Amino acid sequence: MLDSGGRRELSVAGPAPGGGRVIIPGIDDHDPSSTPSPGRKARVLTGYRPTGPMHVGHWFGNVLNMLKLQDEHDCFYFIADWHMLTTHYDRTDKLREYVRGLVLDLLAAGIDPDRVTLYRQSDVPEVAEMALLLGMLTPLGWLERVPTYKERLRDMAEREVANYGLLGYPLLQAVDITIVKGELVPVGEDQVAHLELCREIVRRFNRLYGPVLVEPRPLLSESPLIPGSDGRKMSKSLDNVIGVRDDPDRIRATVRTFITDPQKVRRGDPGRPEICPVFALHRRFSQDILQWTDENCRSGALGCVECKGNLAERIVAYYEPFRERRAELERTPGIVEEVLAAGASKVRPVVEETMKAVRNAMNLA
Ligand code: SF4
Repeated sequence: MLDSGGRRELSVAGPAPGGGRVIIPGIDDHDPSSTPSPGRKARVLTGYRPTGPMHVGHWFGNVLNMLKLQDEHDCFYFIADWHMLTTHYDRTDKLREYVRGLVLDLLAAGIDPDRVTLYRQSDVPEVAEMALLLGMLTPLGWLERVPTYKERLRDMAEREVANYGLLGYPLLQAVDITIVKGELVPVGEDQVAHLELCREIVRRFNRLYGPVLVEPRPLLSESPLIPGSDGRKMSKSLDNVIGVRDDPDRIRATVRTFITDPQKVRRGDPGRPEICPVFALHRRFSQDILQWTDENCRSGALGCVECKGNLAERIVAYYEPFRERRAELERTPGIVEEVLAAGASKVRPVVEETMKAVRNAMNLA
């Protein structure tokens, strides 16, 4: 998820190559209230947590999809800084830096603040008011049964995250969506339960107070598994990432650390590309030599050192335009503040309209 709206020429050039495949589920089960009338673009909402520098996993899992969606829909993208607190409430020292870095990354990637509404969650204080109101009618059991809650508790067992904020994470997501009348929400399979919870909350609200909130639909998006240097999913917390703004030498050094097929010890040994994390990245970056790599790995003619070198050079070249655009943006004084201020101005009337209807329906105003 993200947002913004810029005033000046941003030189954010065209989107990067590639793009995630987007699958819209069959329309028969859709709530008619969230189906746009002919000629109107459906409103899409997605957010992005500023937990650290963007990496290749984010790029293929989120950013390419966002670039594709901005051409097709009325997109609301937001920097989910309050969501970041649900797991990183004790690590806010770099939050401002991460927000700034994320805005620059998105602009450099090609997110166009003149075409999408790009805003920071905490610039919309009504989100907190709406979270309080929806929290009143959301049974605790609905939140406790969301599978990712228990998964996060397990994955972060060494940290004190069993807090009210983490339990309420899906409720906050429901607020993000409904407060801007989001109709479509890009989700991977593992996020469908969150969206279903949002739909249940909307139905409950509308039953209690009248048809005010829009019931969103999932926009199932392919979220490819991008392996990190240790073969596990690329993740900052696992310290196995390639950063999209890493300089070429750092990219080369990181690629050299990637594990490969353990059966292929030296050149001449036949390898199995299908289990090799290096080859998984070749699939994303090296279409020009993909078949050649596959064949020569299997025959043993290709050594892993050379194979990694080929990959590293392609990653370096792929992100070169991005790095140049980002450097140019970074030299533009006030660009981030300007984009966030414009995004807040764009989202505010939408939010105010929703909150007026919600307060009226609940006899609060
Ligand atoms: S040659 Fe390349 S694809 Fe084959 S095992 Fe080595 S690094 Fe992996």
